[in-house]
Amino acid sequence: MQAAPVRPTRVHLRKDLSRHVRAGHPWIWADALAPSEAKTGEVVEVVGGDGKFLARGLFDARSPIAVRVATLDRDEALDAAFVRRRVEEALAARRGVIDPRETDAFRWLNGEGDFLPGVVVDLYGPVAVLRLDGDAVRAWRPCVVEAVAAVGRPLGVASVIERSRAGRAELLDGSTPGDVVEVRESGVRFAVDVLHGQKTGTFLDQRENRRAIRPFADGAEVANLFSYTGGFSVHAALAGASRVTSVDSAAAALDGARDNFALNGLDPDRHEFACADAFAWLDEARAAGRRFGLVIVDPPSFAPSEKAVGRALAAYRDLHAACLALVAPGGVIAAASCSSHVTAEAFLGALRDGAAKAGRALRVLEVRGQPGDHPTLPAFPEGRYLKMILARAR
Ligand code: SAH
Repeated sequence: MQAAPVRPTRVHLRKDLSRHVRAGHPWIWADALAPSEAKTGEVVEVVGGDGKFLARGLFDARSPIAVRVATLDRDEALDAAFVRRRVEEALAARRGVIDPRETDAFRWLNGEGDFLPGVVVDLYGPVAVLRLDGDAVRAWRPCVVEAVAAVGRPLGVASVIERSRAGRAELLDGSTPGDVVEVRESGVRFAVDVLHGQKTGTFLDQRENRRAIRPFADGAEVANLFSYTGGFSVHAALAGASRVTSVDSAAAALDGARDNFALNGLDPDRHEFACADAFAWLDEARAAGRRFGLVIVDPPSFAPSEKAVGRALAAYRDLHAACLALVAPGGVIAAASCSSHVTAEAFLGALRDGAAKAGRALRVLEVRGQPGDHPTLPAFPEGRYLKMILARAR
């Protein structure tokens, strides 16, 4: 006989956040809840001040985010079928966003933004890379792996691996992939190290921004700071840059960048790869009187927390000023920030202040964000982390 379904533990809001939860904010902070006996990884029902059902989600007893809301539908159980539906729905939602004829590396499932909080799945050709945020969501890991393997099989997915926050890789289904998987992004070939590369292998979130810089690279001398494995650099070179200088402090990243040039029929020896601290390189390039028609600058996050925002904005200002000193008159700066704590408006302010410091006037051409395979929710600004501003300097 089948066991009767167990009714989930109920947790009670003690702050009146019902409106936010109903509007779709997927996080409930621990201090907003009355104390409860719920355990990490347990499904809980969130109950509002009026004693009525609000949401169902996963509980984490140790995280400041006590509940990650997965559904507002009281009839929706959080079981394996639920996970499978979310995985299928996220893939369907990539229609119109990813053109499979030219791109086979993209974010299949973006956690909160795809209504499966804490779960990220990135696809690199035949390899699906899973990333789980927080302990609670580990309860779903077997269902996620099963769903990704089953739904991915007809797409040619042969391996499902997990990358931990610390960077460790673990095979969860299928065959062990080689470290390096060759993928296509907007028709450009990239070798991605899915076992050791940053994030889940590379920065898929910059795909559309890499395309956006192309028209400004044609015929230009280009500098790409914090280049990693040369994503922007290869696009710039293919778009007709006379010479691309990639700057990164990690030698391995630059080796990868050289390989990516060669993979696309570009001779790396006709370009420059500088293994250096970007700030020191900027000072030297300025002293040497170098000028570029396009400077791309995409540093790691400067603001790990809300508290660090003030310092981060000052650092962005100084970085932008140093970059603008190298932009030729009429040239373009493409400045990015991946910190969710820095709003697009604040980031634009850091560009304004950098331009003032450098004594340059700017025309803002475009304020860009993250691509459609990194969807966000209207009620969840925390999910909108990526900014890129394209501006032409006088
Ligand atoms: N623009 C890249 C992603 C950049 S990730 C892309 O599109 O793929 C950030 C990179 O900055 C990493 O490769 C890291 O090695 C590099 N980095 C971090 N601090 C640095 C510094 N002080 N100087 C130069 N590079 C740095």
